[in-house]
Amino acid sequence: MKIEDIYNRMREIIYKGNVVALTGAGISKESGIPTFRERGGLWDRYDPSIYGSIVGLSSLFLFKPHRIRDFIVDIYEEIISATPNPAHFALAKLEEEGEIVRIVTQNIDNLHQEAGSKRVYELHGNIYVEKCIRCGKRYKHTKEELKAIMDSLKSASRHEILSKMLPRCKCGGRMRPDVVLFGESLPQKEFEEAYNEVRNCKSLLLVGTSGVVYPAASLPYLAKEVGAAIIEISPEPTALSSLAEHTIIGKAGNILPKLLRRK
Ligand code: NAD
Ligand code: ZN
Repeated sequence: MKIEDIYNRMREIIYKGNVVALTGAGISKESGIPTFRERGGLWDRYDPSIYGSIVGLSSLFLFKPHRIRDFIVDIYEEIISATPNPAHFALAKLEEEGEIVRIVTQNIDNLHQEAGSKRVYELHGNIYVEKCIRCGKRYKHTKEELKAIMDSLKSASRHEILSKMLPRCKCGGRMRPDVVLFGESLPQKEFEEAYNEVRNCKSLLLVGTSGVVYPAASLPYLAKEVGAAIIEISPEPTALSSLAEHTIIGKAGNILPKLLRRK
């Protein structure tokens, strides 16, 4: 089949509406945020057995915060300086046209919202949000605020680091980044809602996700079970490709704007 015919078939599926998009780190790659596992990605630069587990991370956070300062500044600055790419914008446009009912993302970078998407479920949280460990109150920083926090963290003396990284809430408890770390469970309400949207969707767009991070990776199996069509966009086949109607091989920023262009 010619590529244009494949695109047309995919468009027919997508423009039936009721689309859910499940996105992962790959959609933000062209915004300059490397996926974690690739060369040069976070887990290449920092040993996940030290920085990636909640036990290790929480104890470092609380007892040796100076040891994770560089790691925190590194990941935050990478994300703060990124802007949405054509793939994020194409999905925002599809939502505006009324076809997308929901974006379910594993990303924590806020780029879907920055591109204009409104109906976004964040399964792994958002680095702009802080949550009080004691009372659960949340606060969302602006880009400028978070940038200023990182600047002051960089120049903080050793005894100031903890209070910059985990500041106190009004209730006296410490505020932590509202992101899901290794070993932590997903926000239950968010996941249940995402599950319900997938259960009722007509098609599921998979963009930039390898399908190895659970439970997010279970959603395509649910979509398949309920008879939704699955369309995947990825530079290489993934663990989910066998479920897909079609895998379009390529970069999300190239493919999505072309695919989602109405004739
Ligand atoms: P992942 O499991 O989501 O895999 C990334 C996938 O993206 C791979 O299959 C890769 O082939 C694909 N990809 C690479 N470039 C692409 C492109 N240009 N277009 C489309 N697809 C592309 O990601 P991971 O890095 O293993 O991350 C695990 C978890 O860590 C994620 O689920 C997420 O929670 C978090 N994370 C978030 C961000 C972010 O917020 N931007 C970045 C890295 C990791
Ligand atoms: Zn509090």
